[in-house]
Amino acid sequence: MEEKYKNSDMHRSVELGEKALGYIKYNQTSATPDGYELWFNFASGMKPELNERIKTLLSDNPRITQEQLDDIYAQYFLGGEVDQRMEEISNQVSVELNDIIDMVGNSLANTESYSESLEVFTSELADIKDEGSLRMMISSMAAATFEMAKNSKELETNLARSKDQIDQLNNSIETIRAETMTDALTGIANRKKFDSTMDRETENTRTSGENLCLLLCDIDFFKKFNDTHGHQTGDQVLRLVAGILNSNVKGRDLAARYGGEEFAVILPNTSLIDASIVADQIRRAVAMKELVKKSTGEKLGRITLSIGVATLHDDDTIETIIDRADKCLYAAKDAGRNNVQTEINGQPPVIKENEQAIESESHNAA
Ligand code: GH3
Ligand code: MG
Ligand code: MG
Repeated sequence: MEEKYKNSDMHRSVELGEKALGYIKYNQTSATPDGYELWFNFASGMKPELNERIKTLLSDNPRITQEQLDDIYAQYFLGGEVDQRMEEISNQVSVELNDIIDMVGNSLANTESYSESLEVFTSELADIKDEGSLRMMISSMAAATFEMAKNSKELETNLARSKDQIDQLNNSIETIRAETMTDALTGIANRKKFDSTMDRETENTRTSGENLCLLLCDIDFFKKFNDTHGHQTGDQVLRLVAGILNSNVKGRDLAARYGGEEFAVILPNTSLIDASIVADQIRRAVAMKELVKKSTGEKLGRITLSIGVATLHDDDTIETIIDRADKCLYAAKDAGRNNVQTEINGQPPVIKENEQAIESESHNAA
C-alpha cells in the first residue's frame, strides 16, 4: 500500500516536472533550477496567487518574458531564502543565550563555593593557635580570592563576547529587513515598502490633519525602448529613473518601484500644488537627461515620464487614492505623455481629444 502510494507520488512529480520543462520551452525562459522551481510550482497549482499572476500576464501576451519571470521569482520564492536566513539567526541567538545561561550558572556556583570557603575561614579563625596555621589559612584564602577574581574576569570577557555576537546578529537582521524592503534592480524601496509606508503615512495623516499626496509615474513607450535597445539597457534606464526620483524627494517622502516600469512617490505633509511642482521637477529632470549606453558610449536619445498626482481625502482608502492617481496618470498619457496631470476637486481630469494634440505639441516645444 505504502509502496503504491510512493509510486503514484513519483509519477505525479515526473508529470509536473515534464509540464515545467514544457513551459520553459514554450516561453523560452532559461532552464535554471530557479526557473524550473517556478514552473514546477505553476504546474502543481500549489501557489494559487502565483498561478493567477502568470495567467493574467498570459492573457495580455502570448509568452512570459525572462524579466517578468525574474520579478515573479523574487516575489514568490526569494521570501523562502529570507525565512531560512532568519531561522539560522534565531538558532545562533539561542546558542548564544544558552552559553550565557551556562556562564552565569557556573559563576553562581563559583561564588557559592567561595562564600562557603569564607564561612569555614571565619569559623576556624577563632581556633587558630599558632602563626604557622594562620599563615597557611591566609594563603589558602588568598588563593580562593584570586581564583574568584579570575572567574569574574572570565565571565566579564565571555559576556562581552556574547554581547558582540548578539549585536552582530541584530545587524544581520536589520540587513535582511532592509533587503526585503528594497527593489533588487534599482536599489530603491520596493512595492512591499511602498505598501507599508502608505499604511503608516495615511494613518499619520488622518491623526495629524496634514495633507498627503501620491505620485504615480510611468515611463513612456518603454516597450519600444526595450525593443530598440534591449532589456539590459532598459534596466539601466530603470536605475537612472529611480536615482532621479530619489534625488528629488527628501525627509519623510518615499520613492518606490511600484511595478515593472512604474514608480510611486509618497509625499506626506505636502499640498496638492507642491506635489504637482515636485512631479513636474521629476518629469523635467528625466526628460532632460541624455541617455548614453555605458558599455559603448552610444547616445540613446531621451526617455520621458507621465505622472498622475492625487491627494488623500477623508473618504479615501489606500485603494481609492491609488486608483485616482492611476487615472490621472492615464490622463497624462492621453495628454500626449511627458506630462503631469493632477486631480481636480477629487476627480481625475478629463482630457479632450483636441487638448491631446495641443499638450503634446507644447511639451515637444519645451
Ligand atoms: P506607455 O507609454 O503607454 O506606458 O507605453 P509602454 O510601452 O511604456 O507601456 P507597456 O505597458 O506597453 O510596456 C511596458 C514595458 O515595460 C514592457 C516591458 O518590456 C517593460 N518593462 C517592465 N518591467 C521591466 C524591467 O524590469 N526591465 C526592463 N528592461 N523593462 C521592463
Ligand atoms: Mg506601465
Ligand atoms: Mg509605460
